Amino acid sequence: MIPFNEPPLTGNEEKYILRSIKSNKISGDGEFTKLCHKWFENKLKCKKALLTTSCTHALEMAAILINTQPGDEIIMPSYTFVSTANAFVLRGAKIVFIDIRPDTMNIDEKLIEQAITEKTKAIVPVHYAGVACEMDTIMDIANRHGLFVIEDAAQGMMSCYKGKALGTIGHLGTFSFHETKNYTSAGEGGLLIVNNEQFSERAEIIREKGTNRSKFFRGMVDKYSWVDLGSSYLMNDISAAYLWGQLERAEEINCDRLRSWKRYSEGLKKLSSKGVIELPAVPTGCLHNAHMFYIKVKDIDTRRSLLSYLKRNDILSVFHYVPLHSSSAGLIFGRFNGNDMYTTSQSERLIRLPIYYGLEKEKIDFVLDKLNQFYENL
Ligand SMILES: *Cc1c(COP(=O)(O)O)cnc(C)c1O
Repeated sequence: MIPFNEPPLTGNEEKYILRSIKSNKISGDGEFTKLCHKWFENKLKCKKALLTTSCTHALEMAAILINTQPGDEIIMPSYTFVSTANAFVLRGAKIVFIDIRPDTMNIDEKLIEQAITEKTKAIVPVHYAGVACEMDTIMDIANRHGLFVIEDAAQGMMSCYKGKALGTIGHLGTFSFHETKNYTSAGEGGLLIVNNEQFSERAEIIREKGTNRSKFFRGMVDKYSWVDLGSSYLMNDISAAYLWGQLERAEEINCDRLRSWKRYSEGLKKLSSKGVIELPAVPTGCLHNAHMFYIKVKDIDTRRSLLSYLKRNDILSVFHYVPLHSSSAGLIFGRFNGNDMYTTSQSERLIRLPIYYGLEKEKIDFVLDKLNQFYENL
C-alpha cells in the first residue's frame, strides 16, 4: 500500500521531546519555541515569527490584528481550505471570492481590482501547492487601495517569490505544521509572521489571551494584565520540540521532496505532451517546495475512474478542495465576484499523488506505471 501522506520524521524529534518534558517549561514560549522563532526569523528574514496552535489560529490572529469589523469585505480565492475564510467570518466579515488562474490554481490577480469596494479591508492570497501567487501585482493593488495583505502560506514553507520567502511579502503571513504539511509539529501547529512593526506588540498580546504577559516576561512591565482582545494561541513547547527536529533538517526534507516531485514530473511528460493530463505550472521567479504533486485529468468522470483504479492498485490518491463559494456555509458567508470560469471546472479535474519525505523512488515508479497503464487501457 502506498499511503497518500506520511508525517515527516527525521529521528531527532523523540530526543527533543524528552528534553522538553524534562525541562521545567512545557507550556508556550519555552526553549524549543525560542529556537524555532529564531530559526524562522533568520531563515525567512522576517521581523517576527510566533508559533501558534495551528494555521487556522494564525489566520484568526491576523483577522483580529487588522481590526476586521462586521461588514468588512475580504477578498480571497474560493479554491482554498475553509480556515482561510472562517477566520474572517468569525469577526463578522463578508467573504468575496474570486476566480483562480488555471495554470497555478492561485487567485487570479487580474480579477482582484474589480472586486474592490469601499468595504474591502484585505486581500488573502493562498499559495496553492507552495507555488507563489503573483505578489508584485497583489501588493501594488493593495498599496494603491490601502488594503492589508495576509498571505495564507500554510503550504509554502521554504518556497520563494522573486527571492523572498512566502509569508514575508504581505503585512502578515501564516503557515501550518499540520501532519500533512512539509514540516510538522506534534500533529497540529502553525506560525504567524509579522512583517510590519506596527503589528508586533499587539500580535504578542492577542496570542497571550489579550494580556501583556510577553512584555512582563521580558521585564518591560512590572505586572501583567488584560489589555486587548485575545485567546490562547501559543504552541506548547513539546510540540515545538518535535518541529525543531525537522527545522534542523529543513534543507534535506526540501531536497528529498523536490527529488520526488521531479521524478513524477519527468515520468509524466509523455502523457502530458499527448494532452491527456496537465502538469502543475511553476511561473518564473517562483521557487517551490514540492508540497504537492498534482495532475489534472480530462473531467470529473475520468477523475473518479482514475482514483478508483489507483486505489485498486493500492495507491492512495485524493482530490482536493470543494470550492468554498458553493458550499453551504460559503453561500451564507460569501459571494462570488465575477464568473466562475475556472474554480469549479479545474478543481474537479485535480488529483493529488502520494508525496512525502522519504517516499521511495520505486514507489513513485510504481505510481507512474499505473498511471501509464490506466491511459493505455482507456
Ligand atoms: C492546511 C491549511 C490550512 C489550515 O492549517 P491548520 O494548521 O490545519 O489550521 C489553512 N490554509 C491552507 C491553504 C492550508 O493548506
